[in-house]
Order: sequence, then C-alpha cells, then structure tokens
Amino acid sequence: MRASALRRGLDGMGQGLCGFAILLALPLAAVQLLTLFAALDARSALPALLAALLGVLAADAVTGLVHWACDTWGDEQTPYFGPSLIRAFREHHRDPRAMLEHDWIEVNREPAIAATAALLLLLLPGAQRALEGHAALQAFLCFFIAYSALANQLHRWSHVPRPPLAVRGLQRCGLILSPTRHARHHRAPYIGAYCISTGWLNPVLDLAGFWRLLERGVTRFTGIPPRDGSRR
Ligand SMILES: [Zn+2]
Ligand SMILES: [Zn+2]
Repeated sequence: MRASALRRGLDGMGQGLCGFAILLALPLAAVQLLTLFAALDARSALPALLAALLGVLAADAVTGLVHWACDTWGDEQTPYFGPSLIRAFREHHRDPRAMLEHDWIEVNREPAIAATAALLLLLLPGAQRALEGHAALQAFLCFFIAYSALANQLHRWSHVPRPPLAVRGLQRCGLILSPTRHARHHRAPYIGAYCISTGWLNPVLDLAGFWRLLERGVTRFTGIPPRDGSRR
C-alpha cells in the first residue's frame, strides 16, 4: 500500500518535472528568436531565412528517419527503444486515435526535454560566442530545434478532428503537418509518408524510393531484413 503510494508520488513528481521542462522550452526558444531577430540586418536576412527553411526540412527528415526506423526494425522487446518509442508507434498504427487520449505532457515529453537541453546549451557563453555574427546558423538551429520538439504535437494535431483555429490555418498553409498529408501513412501498404513535423519531404522521399534504398542498405550491412508485409 505504502509502496504504491510512493510510486504514485514519484510518478506525479516526474510528470511535474516533465511539464516544467516542456514549459521552460517556450521562454528559452523566445530568447533565441529575439536574439536572432536582433542580429538580423539587410545582408543576413535572406541567408537566415533560407537557413530557417533548411532547419525545418532537417527536422522533418529527422522525424522521418526515427519514425521509419521504429516502423521497420525491431519490436516492443527491443532493448532501450522497444518499450517506449517502438511500442508508441506500433500502438499508434493499431489505433491512430488512441494518442488523442494522451495529455500534453505524455505527447511532448521526450522531444521537448531534448529541446530544452539543447536550448540551455545554446545559452552557454561558448555557444553564444560561436553563434555571434552567424545569423544563418542561429536561424537553422532555432527552427530545427523548434520543429523537432513540436513533432509529436504536430503529429497529434493531424489526427484531431477539430484542432484549434490557428492550427487549422497553419495546416491549410502547409506550414505544419496536415491531416491529408499524414493520412497516406495510415493507408496500405503503410510504408511511406514517415515525416511528421511538416511532411514537406514525404512526396520527394517516397517518389525517390529513399526508404526502400535505405532498407536495402541496412539489410546488406546487418543481414537483418525489414519487417515483412503490412507494417501496421
Ligand atoms: Zn508509422
Ligand atoms: Zn499518425
């Protein structure tokens, strides 16, 4: 009885700390954006804009790689990633709406904590000195971190029947993953459209056969074939 109360207390404390880490990411990201805007001038504005776009694309690529890896290799028993990451993706395929039951801490926990750590590192004097005069690099990092951190939330919103108005506007503009763009991932044969922050890279990577090429490379290197048939 006492042990279960202690476990509940520790779980509650863990949730509280996770919530704090997620909320801390917001002012930290705001500091980075304000520093970036303050550093922009006529010469650096265009390179910074292009770098920001590159950061968004890089985040989309990372979400695609992680998602593809979890859908294609291993199972729930795989050490380290199985019980958490792989299980979450497999459950999501069995019941895509189940993620709507998860609260904002459960959805955003891991990526937001990683983003908070990265944003704290960017505040270190050494990092600040390295970024000084490099608005493009700062723009790339800001947007890469922001879109990576928000990936789970953006994915969740693509499954919400009526997300907030502003979110629907961003989805329609294509600035974040839209339900239509993501729906393809949940249709047979379930082996494409892995990118889940904006989904911008999905048509390119799918048409180029990038994922199948990567699978052949992994199989050649490890001798392990990808999961067979339907990847649900
Ligand atoms: Zn998937
Ligand atoms: Zn989904």
